Amino acid sequence: MYSQLWDFSIPYFEFDVRRAMMQARQESMEIIREKSAFIIDMDGVIYHGNRLLKGAAEFVAWLKESGKRFLFLTNSSERSPEELSQKMARLGIEVGKEHFYTSALATAGFLASQRPKGSAYVIGEPGLIHALYDAGYTMNNVNPDYVVVGEARSYSLDTVEKAVRLVLEGARLIGTNPDLTGPGENGLVPACGSLVAPIELATGRKAYFVGKPNPLMMRHALRRLGATREETVIIGDRMDTDIIAGIESDIETVLVLSGVTSRDDIGRYPYAPRHILEGVFEIP
Ligand SMILES: [Mg+2]
Repeated sequence: MYSQLWDFSIPYFEFDVRRAMMQARQESMEIIREKSAFIIDMDGVIYHGNRLLKGAAEFVAWLKESGKRFLFLTNSSERSPEELSQKMARLGIEVGKEHFYTSALATAGFLASQRPKGSAYVIGEPGLIHALYDAGYTMNNVNPDYVVVGEARSYSLDTVEKAVRLVLEGARLIGTNPDLTGPGENGLVPACGSLVAPIELATGRKAYFVGKPNPLMMRHALRRLGATREETVIIGDRMDTDIIAGIESDIETVLVLSGVTSRDDIGRYPYAPRHILEGVFEIP
C-alpha cells in the first residue's frame, strides 16, 4: 500500500516543483526584460579575456533594438572608454564609448567633487591618468592632495616608496577598486587591492576604494544613465562586487553563471542575487 502511494506521489511532486521553478523563471525573465536601464559588468558577462561569451552579441543587439539604456561598468582602471569600445569592436560588438564607465572615471569624479582642481600622485595606466586630467586634476609628485593607485604596469618598489612617503607627509590614499585579483592572459594577476596593500601596511593608513561594491559607483552609473533605481537592473558574475553593489544600492540584481561564480558558491554568501541566469544569452 505504502509503496504504491510512494510510487504515485513522487512524479506528481516532481512535476509541481518543476512547474513552480519554470513559473519563477518566467517571472524573473519578465522582470528583467521590462527594465529600461541595464548596468552590465563585462568580464565573465560579455567576454572572457578575448573570447566573446555565448549570446553576448545578440544580447547587446537586443538592448539596442529595444531602446534600452545601458552602461558597461568595469572595476578595471587601465583602459579608457575609447579603448574598451575598441576592444568590443574587435570582438564584433559595436558600442559607442559613452556606454562605458570605469572605476577610473568614478575615482576622478569622486575626487573632483571632494576637492575640485586638486592634484595627485598616480600609480596607474593612461586610462586613470586621462580620467583625472579630464576632471581638472594635475599630476604632482611633490606634495599632492591624493595618492591614487590603480592597476599599473609601472608599479615598482620605487613607486611604492614614493607613495608611502607622500602619504606619511599628508596625502590621502585612494584605490580605484578593491579587487585583489583580476583576469590575466595566463591566469589571475594582482589587481588594485593587492597593489595598495603594501602602502597601507607601511603607512598604517587605510585607502578609500571607489569602485564596486562602493554604492558611490552605482550612483554615478545611474546618473550617467539618467535612470532611477527602480528602472534599473545590474548584471554581473561576481557576488562580492556586482551583486553586493546592487543590493546595497537597492537595484535589482542578476547573477550570471558564465563567469567566476558557480551555482554551488552562491549559498556561501550572506546575501543572494534576486535572479540567477546561466548567461546573458537567456535574456533576449
Ligand atoms: Mg566580472
